[in-house]
Amino acid sequence: MNFNNLDCNVKYDEPLKNHTTFKIGGNCKILVEPKSVDNIIEILKICKNNNLNFFIIGNGSNLLVSDNGYDGVIIKLKENFSNIYLNDGYVVSQSGATLSEVFKFSMNNSLTGFEFASGIPGTIGGAVYMNAGAYGGEMKDVVSEVEVLDIDTLEQIVLKSENLHFDYRKSIVQERNYIITKVKLKLSVGDINEIRAVYLDLKEKRNSKQPLEFGSAGSTFKRPEGNFASKLIEDSGLKGYSVNDAMVSKKHSGFIVNVGNATCSDVLKLVDYVKKTVYEKYNVKLEMEVKILGE
Ligand SMILES: Cc1cc2nc3c(=O)[nH]c(=O)nc-3n(C[C@H](O)[C@H](O)[C@H](O)COP(=O)(O)OP(=O)(O)OC[C@H]3O[C@@H](n4cnc5c(N)ncnc54)[C@H](O)[C@@H]3O)c2cc1C
Repeated sequence: MNFNNLDCNVKYDEPLKNHTTFKIGGNCKILVEPKSVDNIIEILKICKNNNLNFFIIGNGSNLLVSDNGYDGVIIKLKENFSNIYLNDGYVVSQSGATLSEVFKFSMNNSLTGFEFASGIPGTIGGAVYMNAGAYGGEMKDVVSEVEVLDIDTLEQIVLKSENLHFDYRKSIVQERNYIITKVKLKLSVGDINEIRAVYLDLKEKRNSKQPLEFGSAGSTFKRPEGNFASKLIEDSGLKGYSVNDAMVSKKHSGFIVNVGNATCSDVLKLVDYVKKTVYEKYNVKLEMEVKILGE
C-alpha cells in the first residue's frame, strides 16, 4: 500500500471529528484529499489492491461518525477538488467546492437560482447526493448534469438531471457505486443586487432560526409526510432534552447539537429516545436524515 507516492495530501490515523460539522468521530486509518479524478482513480486502485474499505466525504456536514472511527480510507473532496468555472453559460464545478463558493461564483456572474443553497454548509457533490434543499429550492431544480466515476469499472459517466432520480433528500447516487466528480448547473441571468439581497435575507433567517453556534449535522430527521419533525419533537416536550453533551437544540428542535464533548453514542441514545417518545405520543416513526459512518 503506498499512498505516499500520490500527488495529494495524505494523513494517517486522522481524527474524523476534525472533518465533520458535528465535531464527533474517532480516527480513520488514512485520510486523502485528491486534486484530480486521476488521483481518485489511483486511490481506489490502491484500496482495491489492499482490500481497504473507503468512504467519500465532502464537508462531513450530514455525517455522524462512530466513536470507534472508520477502519479504512476516507477520501475527502472538500479542499483540493473545488474548481469552479463557466462553460457556455453553465456553472461547472468540481464536486468538492462548497455550496457557498458555488453560490458566490454564480452571484459574481449575475446568475440567479442558487440562492437557496448559499447557507447549506456542504459541498456540491454532497448536495447532489442528498438532493439538498432549503427555502423552497432543491438541487433537482438547478442541476443540468453530473459527471460520476463508477467505482467498479473506474469509468466516467455523464448523467442528465432526469436520470439522477431526485426525490426528497434522495438521488440515484445513494443506490449506486458512484463518486460524483463534477456538477453542471443551469441558472438564469439575474441582477447581482437582487441576488445579494435574497442571499442576505436567507442568511439572516438561518442565523436567527438555527443553532449555528454548536456542532451539528443540520436537521437530524427527515420531514415525516404531512408533518414537521421539529414540531413533533417540540410538542413531545423534548426541547433542550439531553444525553450528556448531545442536546435537542433549544433554538430549533429539529437539530441535535453537540454542546461540548458529545460522543456518537450520546447522539444515538438521544436519537433513540426522541424516536421512541414521538412514536408513543404521535404514532409517527421518525427516520434519520443524517448518515452514520462506522460501527
Ligand atoms: C448547520 C447545518 C445546516 C444545514 N442545513 C441544511 C439545509 O438547509 N438543507 C439540506 O438539505 N441540508 C442541510 N444540512 C445538511 C448538509 O449540509 C447537506 O446534506 C449537504 O448536502 C451535505 O454535504 P457534504 O459535502 O457535507 O456531505 P457529507 O456529509 O460529507 O456526506 C454526506 C453523504 O454524501 C456522500 N457524498 C458526499 N460527497 C460525495 C460525492 N462527491 N460523491 C458521492 N457521494 C458523496 C457521502 O458519502 C455521504 O454518504 C445542514 C447541515 C448543517 C450542519
